[in-house]
Amino acid sequence: MCGIVGAISKHQVAPLLVEALRRLEYRGYDSAGIATLNRDQLDRRRATGKLVNLSDMLVHNPLAGTTGIGHTRWATHGTATVENAHPHSAAHVSVVHNGIIENYKELRAELASLGHSCTTDTDTETVVHLAQHHLNQGMDPVAAVDATLARLEGAFALLFLFEGHADLLIAARKGSPMAIGLGEGEMFVGSDAIALGPLTSDIIYLEEGDRAVITLAGADIVDASGAAVTRPVTRVSIDHSQIDKQGHKHFMAKEIAEQPSVIAGTLAHYLDADHSPLDGIDFTQIDHLTMVACGTAFW
Ligand code: GLU
Repeated sequence: MCGIVGAISKHQVAPLLVEALRRLEYRGYDSAGIATLNRDQLDRRRATGKLVNLSDMLVHNPLAGTTGIGHTRWATHGTATVENAHPHSAAHVSVVHNGIIENYKELRAELASLGHSCTTDTDTETVVHLAQHHLNQGMDPVAAVDATLARLEGAFALLFLFEGHADLLIAARKGSPMAIGLGEGEMFVGSDAIALGPLTSDIIYLEEGDRAVITLAGADIVDASGAAVTRPVTRVSIDHSQIDKQGHKHFMAKEIAEQPSVIAGTLAHYLDADHSPLDGIDFTQIDHLTMVACGTAFW
């Protein structure tokens, strides 16, 4: 599962975005990239392989800007190449995406007939061209995102960056998590609160179907019906052992070694005599139990 990060700051965001992506490395990825507004123009750097390839590139070819988005990709459509790596950009908009746009083939054909040709193998590129198409029709960024979201089928989290709008990121969640971090005079976005750990502890989790307009002044959120909503601010404390390999060769080895403590922690949570989440459940009424897991967890 890949990662999304974003920031609006008074400081240079490229180092901060790479650091936040590093905290999502445990999720796995095949390429990475960031885009910023560099003197109000969209600019980006992308690299295949480990995040160190991107950070090395930034040493030799830095990326200025105080607003930006970043991504670690786990390819679903198109191989792990620089061209397919996110962020994807059109003339005035850049986007990072987790998940799958299921109707991308129809959208691609429609966009081609409108004069927007996709140059990558990804499903994501249709999102950025759709948003650009709506901008070309005179919509502002928020209207362009809403018109774009209305056309997308599938499960996704999306984060948009617009040229000429340094105080704006737009996030959307449908089937894939997204969190907003409230900093001091800064705003952050992450597909996982872990990414935002060193930056802020005050997190707003978007709910299914939410779309958020994020500026330095805060986050304006609407739900799936378009109604303005307030989501609670949660104070999150991140345990650093969650995000480093703790001497293990790779994250999978760490996860395997952690199984006894994870199971003990989970049982302790559910068997807590004072506040068990299972209180009130009458187990005599339950005649079967379904366990859901995937990958190595399934075994
Ligand atoms: N479907 C998109 C792609 O293949 C996003 C994959 C992801 O979630 O990293 O680029």
